[in-house]
Amino acid sequence: MELVKLLRHIKDEKVRRAIRVNAHVISTLRDYLIGKGFVEIFPVMVSKVTDPLTTVKESVELNFYGQSLQLTKSMIFHKLMALFTFDKIFVFSPNIRLEKITDDETGRHLVEFVQLDVEIKNAKRDEVMGLLEDMLIYLTEELKRSCYEELEFFGRTNITHIRPFPRMSYEEAVIKYGADFESKVSLASASPVWITDFPEDMREFYYKTDEKTKHMRDFDLLYPEGFGEAVSGGEREDSRECVLRKLAGKGKDDILEFYVKLLEAGLPPSCGFGIGIERLTRYVCGLEHVKFTRLFPRLPGLKEFAI
Ligand code: ASP
Ligand code: MG
Repeated sequence: MELVKLLRHIKDEKVRRAIRVNAHVISTLRDYLIGKGFVEIFPVMVSKVTDPLTTVKESVELNFYGQSLQLTKSMIFHKLMALFTFDKIFVFSPNIRLEKITDDETGRHLVEFVQLDVEIKNAKRDEVMGLLEDMLIYLTEELKRSCYEELEFFGRTNITHIRPFPRMSYEEAVIKYGADFESKVSLASASPVWITDFPEDMREFYYKTDEKTKHMRDFDLLYPEGFGEAVSGGEREDSRECVLRKLAGKGKDDILEFYVKLLEAGLPPSCGFGIGIERLTRYVCGLEHVKFTRLFPRLPGLKEFAI
């Protein structure tokens, strides 16, 4: 039965076309970044330190040669370390995140997905947000050339973005739309929209805290039309004291010790982001669920397609 369902999915015309678009999304983003002087590195799939995401508590642990390693939730620490060697890097990184079982209904969650991780040495938030806007506009215009037939099939030949994308702080979003603003902002907007300056306790410690405002120098990008979160990113925490304060009593001593060692070793200041590729393709194609962008999707709870 499971196999029958999976084969039906694999042969679905919508899936075939979305995956063709996805292939062009990857090659266009890669060409764009290489053209801007970025170096592509390969992904890390198992490691001793991975992203201590505030939203995903559980990790997948493996025993390798008697050592405990985890499957990558994100390559955040490895992309920061890459800046000891390179000024600008990117990686198409497979991530495993054990999202809540009920998240199979959101249309946005996969347990296994690919994130384009980008990091730039000595960069500030505005520069990186500008790069992302430019990259997304380049991508959608390029896809209208390379995948016109597919976009026509999905009724999505008219996606047009204008820079700069509107921007509001977390605080403004809460005042205007309430605490669960994300889907409301996304639905109300005709353009991708930035949310910036999240409060410290909602975000991972590695985003830089602005000493004056006590907010993070970070950002999320939301897609319009209700497609929700596209990107998380920001400047990176480079103050030892802030790291110690943010992680105190959080039970993450291994990560704390590791990050402090990186700072002591001279980790360069940087700014970067991660953008989920399947969500991007879902948005470009206007699909109701992100599962249609993968031949072998892994949904939260592994209710379908687990083969
Ligand atoms: N590590 C972040 C995430 O996976 C992205 C980033 O800040 O670069 O959401
Ligand atoms: Mg995020």
